Amino acid sequence: MKKELLKALPKMDYLLKEENVIKYIETTNRTLVVEALREAIDTCRENILTDKIDELNIQEILRDFEKRIKLKSKNHLRRVINASGIIVHTNLGRSLLSKEAAENVMSVIRNYSNLEYDIEEGKRGSRYSHLEYLITKITGAEAALVVNNNAAAVMLVLNTLCNGKEAIVSRGQLVEIGGSFRVPDVMKFSGAVLVEVGTTNKTHLYDYEDNINENTGVLMKIHTSNYKILGFTEEVDGEELQKLGEKHNIPVIEDLGSGVLIDFRKYGFIYEPTVQESVNKKIDVITFSGDKMFGGPQAGIIIGKKKYIDKIKKNQLTRALRVGKMTIAAIEATLRLYLSEEEAVEKIPTLYMMLSDKEIHKKRAQKLVRRLRNNLNSFSFKVDTGYAKVGGGSLPTETIPSYVIKVKSNNISTSRMEKLMRENDVALIGRVNNDEFIMDLRTILDEEFDTIVDIFKLIEERE
Ligand SMILES: *Cc1c(COP(=O)(O)O)cnc(C)c1O
Repeated sequence: MKKELLKALPKMDYLLKEENVIKYIETTNRTLVVEALREAIDTCRENILTDKIDELNIQEILRDFEKRIKLKSKNHLRRVINASGIIVHTNLGRSLLSKEAAENVMSVIRNYSNLEYDIEEGKRGSRYSHLEYLITKITGAEAALVVNNNAAAVMLVLNTLCNGKEAIVSRGQLVEIGGSFRVPDVMKFSGAVLVEVGTTNKTHLYDYEDNINENTGVLMKIHTSNYKILGFTEEVDGEELQKLGEKHNIPVIEDLGSGVLIDFRKYGFIYEPTVQESVNKKIDVITFSGDKMFGGPQAGIIIGKKKYIDKIKKNQLTRALRVGKMTIAAIEATLRLYLSEEEAVEKIPTLYMMLSDKEIHKKRAQKLVRRLRNNLNSFSFKVDTGYAKVGGGSLPTETIPSYVIKVKSNNISTSRMEKLMRENDVALIGRVNNDEFIMDLRTILDEEFDTIVDIFKLIEERE
């Protein structure tokens, strides 16, 4: 009987003439269609051989094919709607670019550019020149350089200034960021020898000073972005550390993590050390991320004294860690917004989501709920207060007052609803709490309202 079934398996040529297959050849890609059919036939054969089926159903094979071709023809990296309320969501792409930054990227990638061309001189230029003026103007630093991400920035700085030498770091600052960035590991890769000083909760200036010797390469300070040590604690201020470094002629470097350029306290938000403060403390070299609270693309921004930045630029590693033109275009447009703080907090999505008044989000929640209620019968929607978070390993203990929409379905369980939302063509990523599906308005864009209504409609029709 197995033999009979195997013999009856449809041939590729036969299936390629099926109407429902031709449709996909026309709208997707023939190679992908053949591959999906092959997989569907193979799966069916496997099921026969392992006695999972005892009759042949061509429609079943075609349904399997359809599932496969739909997946294959979708981009693997694709947009989702972030309704989680976690703003710099590392799994969902961290910061969104502003409209200005996105447009600038488009203009530079759809046309040739002066990426490495000096237009005034008519000769070869440097890709790093485009950003240095704005970064130094906004931060107050003497010089700047941009690389692939902050992990690369830290590695490059250490490799340049501390290869084969000792880097003195406080035990309280040996951070791990999301498993992929561990300060001790990055140091090892860079060729620096880690010298841990002080204790987990307290490190004094003398802990650094007592460990300085002729082999010391740098004194390093790391912002503990994603955790807080509370209670009986002490760390050395950057200014003091810088003075100690100057006394011994040893450069001081600081990994700021997120890269905050505006004083959040003005917006009723928690204090977070700014880049400018570190520059004012005369720290020799400072690094921070491009796609956390700076609100730009993935990048690592290195600023500091010219003599050190010049050395870093000459390091061969810089070439390996360099950024592409899309990144440069996105950072430049983002920096331009920072020239006016008012514009920055309005137009840089990460800053807007963090700092905007919660009453704005109440109105938005009410508007979205009205639309949802007008279009749907089998769900109940309720506006409530809630809490968003910065995310991305920044300000871990800080909650941002927000407004959320809480959803229940009359027909399906909340966990099923969450799964269907996630599996939609444009995935809607929310939270589940107290058996309710929760959508936070701080991370939802106005342009996404229609799509959200459509997703609910689709699920209502199907279930
Ligand atoms: C996030 C972070 C990093 C890593 O930055 P990436 O841009 O993700 O490479 C390094 N150090 C600190 C303190 C951070 O917060």
